[in-house]
Amino acid sequence: SIKLAHITKNFGSVTAIKDINLDVVDGDFLVLLGPSGCGKSTLLRMLAGLETISDGAIYLGDRRIDGLPPSERDMAFVFQSYALYPHKSVGENIGFPLLMRYFRWWFHIPILGSIAKRRVERSPEVAQSVTRTAKILGLTEMLNRLPRTLSGGQRQRVALGRAMVRQPEVFLMDEPLSNLDAKLRTTMRAEISKLHRNLKGTFVYVTHDQVEAMTMGTKIALLRDGQLQQFGTPREIYEDPANTYVAGFIGVPA
Ligand code: ATP
Ligand code: MG
Repeated sequence: SIKLAHITKNFGSVTAIKDINLDVVDGDFLVLLGPSGCGKSTLLRMLAGLETISDGAIYLGDRRIDGLPPSERDMAFVFQSYALYPHKSVGENIGFPLLMRYFRWWFHIPILGSIAKRRVERSPEVAQSVTRTAKILGLTEMLNRLPRTLSGGQRQRVALGRAMVRQPEVFLMDEPLSNLDAKLRTTMRAEISKLHRNLKGTFVYVTHDQVEAMTMGTKIALLRDGQLQQFGTPREIYEDPANTYVAGFIGVPA
């Protein structure tokens, strides 16, 4: 489970996030929803450890994790602009985080490093993880291709694969579908929902799209100007909006 306790973020005199409390249960698909500038990305980046928090605490299970660097939180992220390595194949792109696990200072000594790197790349353990991940995402036939030869949706799946391969407990996604056309977006929504069902991990997913939130989320946190307006299941929010702002944003008569 993830617990956000009294999280606040100030950028100089601007308060981007104001005293947010949230509990995310294992296996939840939490959607952070709200208009542009309301603080969704900032909140997600604080969870990931890419942004410091000004006040409050973050817990993963019993462990307090704010203060830990991103690599020591058991979380994987997928961003809107998912940069793949253009000169690496699909398989190498997916396996890259596993190699990173073995990077040590001696990797940087030319001969020693290249021998070690080759060993890791050829290890059955890495190959097995890449194969398993590719199978889940339907990328098995594409492992040797370069990213530029793939469609947008296929590239998006490679980015998801790169996030999945380490089998993290928590997935963080910041508008991962916003670069795709409408048709592909619909397909990818279903794919991510399927991924969530299969992996049984905890997902935190940022979007400003209420349809995406209502169809994908098991829980929704609706933000406005850095403040939490309502937290609940899509049904609770739809049937019992906390205020006229929530009702307006979701599109139900208050
Ligand atoms: P969008 O839907 O447009 O991506 P968002 O909900 O993700 O919006 P954030 O990017 O979290 O919004 O920004 C929240 C507020 O914090 C905005 O007012 C933004 O200008 C401000 N902000 C974000 N990052 C910084 C920064 N590094 N320095 C100063 N202000 C920042
Ligand atoms: Mg954002």
